[in-house]
Amino acid sequence: MSTVAVEKLKNYINGEWVESKTAQYEDVYNPATKEVIAQVPLSTKEDIEYAAQIAKQAFEKWSKVAVPRRARILFNFHQLLIKHQEELARLITIENGKNLTEALGEVQRGIENVEFAAGAPSLMMGDSLSSIATDVEATTYRYPIGVIGGITPFNFPMMVPCWMFPMAIALGNTFILKPSERTPLLTQRLVELFTEAGLPKGVFNVVHGAHDVVNGILDHPDIKAISFVGSKPVGEYVYKRGSENLKRVQALTGAKNHTIVLNDADLEETVTNIIGAAFGSAGERCMACAVVTVEEGIADAFMAKLKEKTASIKIGNGLDDGVFLGPVIREENHKRTINYIEKGIEEGANLVCDGRTNSPEDGYFVGPTIFDGVTTEMTIWKDEIFAPVLSIIRVKNLKEAVEIANQSEFANGACLFTTNAHSVRYFRENIDAGMLGINLGVPAPMALFPFSGWKSSFFGTLHANGKDSVDFYTRKKVVTARYVEPTFE
Ligand code: NAD
Repeated sequence: MSTVAVEKLKNYINGEWVESKTAQYEDVYNPATKEVIAQVPLSTKEDIEYAAQIAKQAFEKWSKVAVPRRARILFNFHQLLIKHQEELARLITIENGKNLTEALGEVQRGIENVEFAAGAPSLMMGDSLSSIATDVEATTYRYPIGVIGGITPFNFPMMVPCWMFPMAIALGNTFILKPSERTPLLTQRLVELFTEAGLPKGVFNVVHGAHDVVNGILDHPDIKAISFVGSKPVGEYVYKRGSENLKRVQALTGAKNHTIVLNDADLEETVTNIIGAAFGSAGERCMACAVVTVEEGIADAFMAKLKEKTASIKIGNGLDDGVFLGPVIREENHKRTINYIEKGIEEGANLVCDGRTNSPEDGYFVGPTIFDGVTTEMTIWKDEIFAPVLSIIRVKNLKEAVEIANQSEFANGACLFTTNAHSVRYFRENIDAGMLGINLGVPAPMALFPFSGWKSSFFGTLHANGKDSVDFYTRKKVVTARYVEPTFE
């Protein structure tokens, strides 16, 4: 561990870096080296109070700025993100551990959100009908709702915050972001670049910390809506407490995504995609493939290819060339994953690839792990492990595969590998999941479409991204107007 003094992070409120009122700081690690790279303040309710007051004041002016003028700042921000994409990707790899290619992909996804938000002038347009009765017309107008609070997880330090603040701000709201205390550094650059793009003071504020800040956001009367992304227990809590305080809340939560492989799938392509989806980003993706249900006719060939390709995965520091699999985020996540592997063995699953034995020791590494012969009674099938651990279940047919997936409490994504059109239709009509993939591994929708989990993977009504995000971050007025017939001389 480094003995060099590390930077103590500050909050960003009213266009400047301000020290938190807290005396408590938490170490931020590079999970590939266990080196402490910064210290993050566990800010207090007083810090949130100040941020909310500033954001509320800023809303008075920002909400009145003409929408195309707001959008121009988003365009400037977009250009700066492109200019700094390599630097941002490096920062993601250092604080999160995913490899540089994945980090660059994440930056690109974040940029796409900014692109979409820059379309605010069209997205904010209302509807009108010139004649709803004689000489009477009706028109809807959209308005921002006020101060929005964003609470984000560690696994996508750029993309997930970009699901929230660019659109909320483009639509005229002001924003307080509480990034994950485990990956707070990327946010520092986002706020600096948005300010450089011309964003006025107080519109975008960052308050670092953990549950005290979250509770401060949930309880503050001037914060009108909450966007949350994170685990299911915390999302459920945020949804309940925020709703009780009469706020709009959207909470995108955990997952246990199933991928179905049918006998007629293209084996080579299927295995390549599943390896990317199961072990990419160390399995720390809400769209990760956690379970494969494979038809018996192809199961042996599938397992053989899966093992062969898994054996060639390079594990290590994501900054190094050719590394595919980086570390999990913290020691506790490492321990938790090892415990799950042991539980899988104890419950009778067949461990065909053991991530405990093939991983380096200098960071929080777990190698790719595969269990065959998993059943729905096993803990490794039920729980979101959020690590590079893949469960395989052999099934008789597509119907059985869908029935198994639908027993999960989660319903974020689901994939099907097949060349049969009717199977695709059966899957689409019968699977419980909000985001489906056909012959691809990670069906994360682009910014134009909603991020659409079902069941315990989402609490709320309007999802993140797409037109849902425009509805979530605006409220409407409907004007019904009668025009008196003019008299012409
Ligand atoms: P987490 O729930 O531990 O943390 C998320 C946020 O909540 C963080 O900002 C954290 O500080 C805060 N938090 C944590 N515990 C809290 C508590 N007791 N009270 C109040 N606030 C608290 O999640 P994580 O480990 O950072 O992220 C991984 C989880 O996020 C996984 O479950 C993953 O599936 C989920 N996720 C979901 C999506 C989606 O779109 N559905 C996307 C990304 C991640």
